[in-house]
Amino acid sequence: MIRRFLYNFMQGRNGFDSVAKLAWCLTIVFMLLSLIPGVFGFVCGFIVLVLIVYTWWRVCSKNVYKRSRENARYLEKTAALRMRLRDFKIRFSMRKQYKFFTCPTCHTLLRVPRGKGRIQITCSKCGNRFPGKT
Ligand SMILES: [Zn+2]
Repeated sequence: MIRRFLYNFMQGRNGFDSVAKLAWCLTIVFMLLSLIPGVFGFVCGFIVLVLIVYTWWRVCSKNVYKRSRENARYLEKTAALRMRLRDFKIRFSMRKQYKFFTCPTCHTLLRVPRGKGRIQITCSKCGNRFPGKT
């Protein structure tokens, strides 16, 4: 019954998009900062309230067209950063088996097995060769 209610309620509404996710993460950060005593903590507590209201307003907004355009703009502006973060996650998860190099010509991320000593690395994208220690 609650599920049905939520489903009906969320029909035609924006929902929890990437901007809402960012606002939610900032809420948690400011919530922790608000624990600091004094004026700074108080201001952070106020920001938490604003962010909570903003997040819910955004999730429940019925102007889906405008919200999705804002979301698209946000995703476009953070595309490079999110790509770097993704690269970092991939590198980190495979750090024991592989060493990673960036091609000096085309900046492609290249993966080489570890423990092969000094080798010539050939870029899979542009064919450039450069030395590297694995
Ligand atoms: Zn290359």
